[in-house]
Amino acid sequence: MPQNFVNASTTLEVQRLHIDGGYVDATSGETFTTVNPATNRDICEVQQAAEADVDRAVDAARRGFEVWSQMPAMDRTRIMLRAVEILRDRNDEFAHLETLDTGKPLSETTTEDIRTGADVIEFYAGLISSLHGQHFDFPPAAFATIRREPLGVCAGIGAWNYPMQIAMWKSAPALACGNSFIFKPAELTPLTALRLAEVYTEAGVPDGVFNVVQGDHRVGQMLSRHQGIDKISLTGEVGTGKKVMADAATTLKGVTLELGGKSPIIVFDDADFDSAVNAALVANFYSAGEVCSNGTRVFVQRGMYEEFVSKLAPRAEALKIGDPFDPDVVVGPLISREHHAKVMGYMDIALASGARHLCGGTVPDDPALADGNYVTPAIFADCEDDMQFVKEEVFGPLMAVLPFDDEDEALRRANDTNYGLSGAVFTTDFARAHRVANSIQAGSVWINDYNALPASIPFGGYKQSGVGRENGLVTIDHFTQWKTIYANLTTFDAYY
Ligand code: NDP
Repeated sequence: MPQNFVNASTTLEVQRLHIDGGYVDATSGETFTTVNPATNRDICEVQQAAEADVDRAVDAARRGFEVWSQMPAMDRTRIMLRAVEILRDRNDEFAHLETLDTGKPLSETTTEDIRTGADVIEFYAGLISSLHGQHFDFPPAAFATIRREPLGVCAGIGAWNYPMQIAMWKSAPALACGNSFIFKPAELTPLTALRLAEVYTEAGVPDGVFNVVQGDHRVGQMLSRHQGIDKISLTGEVGTGKKVMADAATTLKGVTLELGGKSPIIVFDDADFDSAVNAALVANFYSAGEVCSNGTRVFVQRGMYEEFVSKLAPRAEALKIGDPFDPDVVVGPLISREHHAKVMGYMDIALASGARHLCGGTVPDDPALADGNYVTPAIFADCEDDMQFVKEEVFGPLMAVLPFDDEDEALRRANDTNYGLSGAVFTTDFARAHRVANSIQAGSVWINDYNALPASIPFGGYKQSGVGRENGLVTIDHFTQWKTIYANLTTFDAYY
């Protein structure tokens, strides 16, 4: 294994902020600890940004913006593509660091987290030269140009489940549009965003264009409220989204909010059975269930219901749970002791609900895993819509299976939620697939698939699952503003 790859027992020196193209010390004198979720051993201390450090990042970003936004488009494309190249070259190194900090198995981080982030940078890098405005003629002697201009300094606040990927998903469209960026990772997973800052700098991104400030929700608040920041993009819980939106309103900056979900999967009797079972498992147990778009309410039509239910537990019990650095492991620990306690609380609620317990929801008895935040994948059948664990986002490996009779009923129940992030329909009936997909109230709906999220298609929530979109062309509109320039080619006459 190359020397710069971390492993389960790695500890690191104190991590600093990355502002204006390099590492700087925070002025707060405060630090926090980041912990390995697989062992609960400390990885390192991280410096917490003070208000003065956020101001410093904003000043640097303002200067960076002046340089970056004036750089020729092809130069910016080349720089961002160089970042993609470095990210791909060092994919496994960054994946190991992500595994250390998040507990996500290497089987995921080496194949998904860094790559899908790099894909998004590549997608937006390729668009830069094509970003354009509009032109209107007003004969005989006037015209208007509508310029697409960057916003200025944008900021991102990340969740802990896809730390480096979120930093890339947010910064890529912002930078492609000519903005500069300040990113605050979640306090639980502060490490890889700093590596992204190093990569951007190495690739030639000018100083100040991408900055990382570390810290807890206080730093998030400083960014949301800051007069010098023009846009804020959060990935987090619904409650946090509401606070960020309220704080952003104090300066009327725009927001993009990627929030939680409680997404439905609707499986009809005519579905390809194995595909539907596979999807239910992946949509609940990938990343130990810590995925916002997961399909945690699995509605199965009665004709297939018992057979479907009978297949789930053996498959879930066969998933290898354990040390996320073991390449065969597919279920790692949860992010923190607190989150583990919350998820175990939902397991108790589910056990007491009267739903049929099929498997899991326990702490594994392997003594080697005793120090980590592990919980076995849990499945409950015969669930009812109003059970607490069926209604609320658990963000852990807890699948609820619910029987239904007909399409209208399934849709009514699937849509009976304040969330609207995603959903799926499994059927071989072409017309029904599209009818149901059109009627699910969610930002992303998959037909006979789950969690496919290529860089070119928008992702985001309906209802309380979010505001705005990430990825795809539409996101360009979230990181630019239109300027209308009306030009008169003749004299200007007084109206009076
Ligand atoms: P949180 O909402 O707790 O935190 C998200 C980020 O917001 C963290 O960086 C956090 O800082 C920061 N924060 C917390 N309070 C404030 C505040 N008042 N003002 C500004 N920033 C604040 O979410 P989690 O990190 O627990 O992530 C899990 C949630 O994220 C789930 O609900 C999940 O569904 C959602 N999510 C949504 C995704 C999507 O794309 N729709 C994708 C992934 C996750 P700190 O942690 O340091 O306190």
